[in-house]
Amino acid sequence: MIYKIGSLGVEKLSLVTVIGAGPAGLRCAELIANEGFEVTVLEEHTTVGRPVQCAGLVSETGLSELELGLNQEDYVVNSIYGAKMVSPHNVVLKVRKKKPVAQVIDRFKFDQLLYKRALKAGAKVALGTKLIDITESSLFLEAKGRGELMKSNVVVAADGPNSLVRNTTHPKIGGESFVHGFQYRVEGSFDKKMVELHFGSYAKGFFAWVIPESETIARIGIGAKLGQDIEKRMKVFMQEKKFDVKILSKSSALIPVINPLKQLVGTNTLLLGDAAFQTKATTGGGIVMGLNAAEIAAESVANNLKHNSPLKEYENNIAPVNKELALHWKIRAYLNSLNDHKLDDLFAKAKNAGIEAFLEEHGDMDKPSRFVKKILLKPRLWGLAPTAMRFILG
Ligand SMILES: Cc1cc2nc3c(=O)[nH]c(=O)nc-3n(C[C@H](O)[C@H](O)[C@H](O)COP(=O)(O)OP(=O)(O)OC[C@H]3O[C@@H](n4cnc5c(N)ncnc54)[C@H](O)[C@@H]3O)c2cc1C
Repeated sequence: MIYKIGSLGVEKLSLVTVIGAGPAGLRCAELIANEGFEVTVLEEHTTVGRPVQCAGLVSETGLSELELGLNQEDYVVNSIYGAKMVSPHNVVLKVRKKKPVAQVIDRFKFDQLLYKRALKAGAKVALGTKLIDITESSLFLEAKGRGELMKSNVVVAADGPNSLVRNTTHPKIGGESFVHGFQYRVEGSFDKKMVELHFGSYAKGFFAWVIPESETIARIGIGAKLGQDIEKRMKVFMQEKKFDVKILSKSSALIPVINPLKQLVGTNTLLLGDAAFQTKATTGGGIVMGLNAAEIAAESVANNLKHNSPLKEYENNIAPVNKELALHWKIRAYLNSLNDHKLDDLFAKAKNAGIEAFLEEHGDMDKPSRFVKKILLKPRLWGLAPTAMRFILG
């Protein structure tokens, strides 16, 4: 970082500034630094990866396709082989594969590993430094109770679901586009190979989950539309399912759940990760999608700095990610349109049609386009064709 005396006192200068040291911001910074460009990450918290506000379930394919250069043993706490999905009145779909389909990760360790890689690549990370305002290339910061001014040619906003950059530079997005996520880490007895997804009016607009870390520890959580007492809903869910557990800790945060944003680039800003609504609206998972998008954003920033190509390139190159995200949103919007009885009917119809065996063979947590069309090719599943067509045709 270079310092100079500007009209408002000492100004810091950085060629590229990434706001937010979450997975998306750190990965993007690492890749930009690898291209030889000066990049500074600003993070309001004093420790990367804290507080943890995530269930940490990541698809195995997503992780391996990303090629992050990390050893899974360093951050994976459990391997998941399948899912039990429970409808409001207990129609159960069970999908179980022979190999792990997903990993439960330690988000603190994962973020710390990405942090170390970003530093090793040459990125600078300013912890305890909060962006408080932004106008074009000027960033107004607060660090250790003092105000600072920073100038940057390019700003990557990876500042999470409440993104200050997005709220400042884009039209406001209402609360209806978020789900309130709430989670307990608990001690009890669990099938460590299976996650559970529960649908019902306690989790209106989303679902509740059980993600085991081991046979005795799990992350039990719930998401629901904003404006409802989420902890109360969690209690209703826990009572209804008669969980016999000891609560170890709790956390809560927003999950963006809407169609992906199309306008991601401002004059010199790019939105990335949760800030750009790059989360899967079906499950709220944003780690793999945000990391995918980070690669695309880093390439667009590097091309801008090397060849002066427009940052808008990012909006074109992100199209394949957005296509999958849009499909997740269509599925979510459809599920949200069903009342509890209709959800039961859908589960029963899908079960009778053999969806469990189909998903065991073709299911994909991140890319529904990989299996939705295949439903039409299986005569047994033709009963679900009208539902599948809804997602294919839009
Ligand atoms: C309850 C819950 C469960 C979830 N479970 C899963 C799951 O199982 N699998 C999955 O894939 N995803 C899950 N997610 C979503 C996942 O956590 C996010 O998609 C992911 O963390 C997004 O990464 P990011 O880097 O875009 O943003 P974040 O991880 O939110 O990082 C943003 C960073 O920016 C910093 N920041 C914000 N504002 C400022 C500012 N003004 N100045 C400086 N720094 C700032 C924040 O402190 C933070 O460190 C879950 C989310 C919730 C809430």
